[in-house]
Amino acid sequence: MTSTTPELRTLDNYVGGAWTPASVSETLDVIAPASGAPLARVPLSAAADVDAAVSAARAALPAWRDVNVIERARRLFRLRELLVARQEELARSVTAEMGKTLADARAEVARAIEMVEAATAIPTTMQGRILEDVSRGIDAETIRQPVGVCAAIAPFNFPMMVPFWFLPFAIGCGNAFVLKPSEQVPMTQQLVFELLHELELPAGVVNLVNGGRDVVEALLDHPGIDAISFVGSAPVAKLVYERAAKTGKRVQALGGAKNHMVVMPDAVIDKTVSGLIGSAFGAAGQRCMAGSVVVTVGEAHERLLEPLVAATRALTVGDGADAQSDVGPVISCAARDRIAGWIDSAAAEGAEVVVDGREGLDGLPDGGSFLGPTILDGVTPQMPIAQEEVFGPVLTVIRAETLDEAIAIVNASRFGNGTSIFTESGPAVRRYRHDVEAGMVGVNIGVAAPVAFFPFSGWKDSFLGDLHAHGPDAVDFFTRKKTVTSRWFGDGQGTGSYFVEQ
Ligand code: NAD
Repeated sequence: MTSTTPELRTLDNYVGGAWTPASVSETLDVIAPASGAPLARVPLSAAADVDAAVSAARAALPAWRDVNVIERARRLFRLRELLVARQEELARSVTAEMGKTLADARAEVARAIEMVEAATAIPTTMQGRILEDVSRGIDAETIRQPVGVCAAIAPFNFPMMVPFWFLPFAIGCGNAFVLKPSEQVPMTQQLVFELLHELELPAGVVNLVNGGRDVVEALLDHPGIDAISFVGSAPVAKLVYERAAKTGKRVQALGGAKNHMVVMPDAVIDKTVSGLIGSAFGAAGQRCMAGSVVVTVGEAHERLLEPLVAATRALTVGDGADAQSDVGPVISCAARDRIAGWIDSAAAEGAEVVVDGREGLDGLPDGGSFLGPTILDGVTPQMPIAQEEVFGPVLTVIRAETLDEAIAIVNASRFGNGTSIFTESGPAVRRYRHDVEAGMVGVNIGVAAPVAFFPFSGWKDSFLGDLHAHGPDAVDFFTRKKTVTSRWFGDGQGTGSYFVEQ
């Protein structure tokens, strides 16, 4: 799409320590989901722009990896201070371009800051290991060194946090970094890169290239890139994983999700309802950890449904920037229509629409992409709505008779990102955490959200790769191990060559 609003600012890339216009004139309008108003134009950069960023990163690498690790950590401490000072502005930017409520956006920015805090531990977490006397007088040690030039490709739903699953750890470990934000939400990272500019890193240590598919493909194919971190939908994750591996890159590709929340008959209902509501409808259901299927076990259905429906009906849909809004718009009108289509087809297949988010939207701005929270009861595991990612404020309810049956339903999914169980039963929790096939598990928690100091990712089609995001896995991903085996011939008493030369 070409912009029709001439006065809009066109965003720049950040390459080699300077703001740089993209080499192309093709742009997309960045649209505010709450109003439909264009906010800026984002350039759809080309392979030449990627090449410039990778060249700058490669040039920066030798000097940056030689900056001592404590000094690299100090830059991260400084980055943390800069982010904290501007966190409200960053949160407002997230709300403006992505649509989520300010409360959600503030939490997102706080999590990004936590990532920087975790990365400041690099002088400890990047340590290697040593073993004396692997043979007589011979020691073996493993040291960690940066991988090289690392790139990250981000989705639209966390404009601030997802890039920070990678950036602070990558540069803390001594790598150079290239970020491609989602072209739907590129503005928050412009602010972030203004702050990174203030850090006075060597030119080329961090780079930002705006754009879409062409930029991704150029990054995947570029011989100057050593590692790729991707977060987005499952089909693109697969494509990224395969194509980047073809050129020998290290890859972690976090994909889509279909997250189940199992409710046992003994669950504490009021707390469970608030956990389910936050999980299913927070960020209008556009979280990879959003619970989108409730599996009720036995009489849990009867206890749960009425309060769940009542609490859902009480939610206020509106502009995420308004304090009274509980649920903001979805990312675009196209997304709204796609999600509404899922509700139509589920209803046609026999699901009962007990709360209908397609209705009751009068009074909201015409250009906004609003869709209210929706609950579909009477869903069976075979229906497409129970199997495919909807990525919107739609919660489906499936009944199971036993925990075994619930676990079988959860494990039949091709996805395995996150899941939760609500119960007061220790043995049920133990069974569930042991048997369930998912990377992140919540116990009486609706969203088993990323914690910076722990690894985060899914299983099965939700993740391709070996090393998860952040936590200790980040250091493993952003370093290469080198094992050195050594022996010395002197006796340490002045007979070695060093002592002779003195
Ligand atoms: P998306 O896959 O459409 O886009 C992600 C990135 O890939 C964007 O930067 C986009 O420019 C690029 N891209 C899109 N299509 C491409 C193509 N054909 N070739 C190359 N690059 C392409 O995802 P999205 O809609 O921005 O984000 C929502 C998805 O991300 C959901 O599926 C959600 O579950 C997933 N997600 C997963 C996690 C996780 O941790 N697993 C976290 C956040 C979001």
